[in-house]
Amino acid sequence: MIFEADPAPHARTLLAGLAASPMLVALFDAGDCLLWCNNAFASVFGVDEGTHPTWVEPMRQARRRGVGSVVQAADFEAWLASAASRRGKQPWRSFEGDMHDGRWFSMAEQTLPDGSMLCIAQDVSGLRTDERELRLARDLAERQASSDPLTGLGNRRHVMQALAAALEPPRREGGVLALIDLDHFKRINDEHGHQRGDLVLCDFARVLMSVMRRDDVIGRIGGEEFLVLLPGVGAQAAVAVMQRLGSATRASQPLPERPELRYTCSVGLVAIDDCSSQDELLHEADEALYAAKAAGRDCCVLRPAARR
Ligand code: GH3
Ligand code: MG
Ligand code: MG
Repeated sequence: MIFEADPAPHARTLLAGLAASPMLVALFDAGDCLLWCNNAFASVFGVDEGTHPTWVEPMRQARRRGVGSVVQAADFEAWLASAASRRGKQPWRSFEGDMHDGRWFSMAEQTLPDGSMLCIAQDVSGLRTDERELRLARDLAERQASSDPLTGLGNRRHVMQALAAALEPPRREGGVLALIDLDHFKRINDEHGHQRGDLVLCDFARVLMSVMRRDDVIGRIGGEEFLVLLPGVGAQAAVAVMQRLGSATRASQPLPERPELRYTCSVGLVAIDDCSSQDELLHEADEALYAAKAAGRDCCVLRPAARR
């Protein structure tokens, strides 16, 4: 019998097996903090016993010491921020990569209903190397298909997939969708040039990432438009998050050489439980954003107000 009503008697044995396994096993909580890992994971990523770092810390430390996964990125911190913003947003993901010690690993990440994530990596150095390039190209194509090259955030596809999943039964209670548009962005481009406009977009991506939780799904869905899904959050809590976003955006100075340049954003919010379809949600978010622009911009409007 594979599944027993009460797996508890075997949990200790299972854990002991995972602890001693040559596979790399780690469990992260919803805030991306390491809850548990086995010896193999700890030794590859240099995690000290009894410590609970967030995912970015062992990645940084491994990079400094020249151990762990090889990351081919000129700007490691930008790569880390982009990877962290997309981490744990899909129920399941698998990919391959090489380690500094020359080994080749197949890695799988499984997000659990409470937002925690189980990561398992297996040494597959023995697999056919002539197919490796093909598999790497597949992983890269998958990553590119869901991320925005300018900001490193997820793209429209990434956030729409998450939205569709959030609407599927069994639906998690609560949740809010936020459509965000930078104010008078055309003016920023006209006055400072398109390239500096791009820097403002990247700055806003950083501001967004600093305000949102790991659970939230963030995507750049168009020029200066962003969509954020805040799962399991009440409407009033989402309004408070957006007010923090508004303050952080207003305070930001995206161009060090032009400290006078400030910018703002407008936000349209819809509670997921108030809508029955993805189309209706997007329509309501659009209407709410339109209302925020009409109200003078640099503010947040929640729709549909009549039903609350
Ligand atoms: P509003 O407050 O009503 O949103 O005004 P706005 O000027 O932001 O809105 P509008 O839609 O008129 O202009 C958006 C501008 O965004 C126009 C377009 O040139 C610019 N844009 C779109 N994509 C990019 C991009 O990738 N980089 C840069 N720098 N600009 C972009
Ligand atoms: Mg705009
Ligand atoms: Mg726009």
